[in-house]
Amino acid sequence: MSMPGSPLRIADVRATTVTVPLQAPLRHSNGSHWGRFVRTVVEVETADGIVGLGEMGGGGESAEAAIAGLKPYLVGHDPARLEALRFMIANPTASLYNNRTQLLAAIEFACLDILGRHTGLPVHALLGGAVRDRVEFASYLFFRYPAADGTGEVRTPEQLVAHARALKSEHGFRVHKLKGGVFDPDYELACYRALAEALPGDRLRYDPNGVLSVEGAIRFARAIEDLDNDYIEDPCYGLNGMRRLRENTTIPTATNTVVVNFEQLAANVLQPAVDVVLLDTTFWGGIRPCVKAAGVAETFQLGIAVHSSGELGIQLATMLHLGAVVPNLAFAADAHYHHLLDDVVVGGKLPYAGGSIAVPEAPGLGVELDRDKVAEYAELFRELGPYPYDRDPGRPGWYPLLPNTAYADHEAEGRPAALDQPS
Ligand SMILES: [Mg+2]
Repeated sequence: MSMPGSPLRIADVRATTVTVPLQAPLRHSNGSHWGRFVRTVVEVETADGIVGLGEMGGGGESAEAAIAGLKPYLVGHDPARLEALRFMIANPTASLYNNRTQLLAAIEFACLDILGRHTGLPVHALLGGAVRDRVEFASYLFFRYPAADGTGEVRTPEQLVAHARALKSEHGFRVHKLKGGVFDPDYELACYRALAEALPGDRLRYDPNGVLSVEGAIRFARAIEDLDNDYIEDPCYGLNGMRRLRENTTIPTATNTVVVNFEQLAANVLQPAVDVVLLDTTFWGGIRPCVKAAGVAETFQLGIAVHSSGELGIQLATMLHLGAVVPNLAFAADAHYHHLLDDVVVGGKLPYAGGSIAVPEAPGLGVELDRDKVAEYAELFRELGPYPYDRDPGRPGWYPLLPNTAYADHEAEGRPAALDQPS
């Protein structure tokens, strides 16, 4: 279809899967990040040689083949026609057979990057313009297995408090999110209260990824109502469970699991279950749908925050540009970023200062690939392979029910042998 507009045309699409090490394996309700992130770097190149960058994850697995499979759809397409792209590769009814939302997101990032590089404007300027030049982040605390050298374990309240204090002193965080759902809720409650006691004046949030029963979620929420909570995030699963929780606590409820598209957002407006919607540039299919969702939230006076699905610098840039342009962002964003040991962008990891990161100002997303790092970490992926994100290396064969009835043993110390065997 011939359309007026930019002279840009997509000529090639490339994907490179990389593995970047984490300080220590991060534990969550379904399993663990086994000491590394597997991310796929996406490059979209135009006929005149502009290269835009995208990124996606995928549960510890490579997305190279999925991105390569989109090439016949994309070659010849004008990267400025982003709304057309949505229907071209992620039409909502075609998606019932083949959900490409996360692929669409990676391509959208790259197309926005191309448009910014072509016009000389940062992505935030293409999205309506920045209303802030820095985005605040929460500390995002995880229970962690020890790293291979034995350091980095977070299992006891003392270790958790020490970890939070160290992160606060290094990066300036004033908001702390505890990723729970790993140990018995009463044990995690003690951990959360220990954090509150150790960090007076700071704000807190708890997120066990939906594994408590509704009654368990109500019990947990009531036991922390005296603390400085931003919100309680997905303590139980489902809009109806969250609605029942919301009717039984004074703490705002939040989700990144049951409001992740516009149908669910509408349902939540009509019958409120969550007060704060965590927007994820990957889950929603790009930065632009998140900006649209933020507008709906503003209209209906719902809160928004920014979700992290595990990012390197490219995806982090998408979160920064999103955070820059949505006026109603009243909460610190989440990022796993500070758990990474390195990044694939030029200059290394983007620095935190005072708990926030500066919004990139260079054209496009404002980050450049460090080709040596990409090569190094693509090699590391070939060496180590994928990992099962939804399996716990410490409990082979285990998987959680919803609600969970079998939590990890908080007295079990040490590094599971599975972490050091080929996966
Ligand atoms: Mg969450």
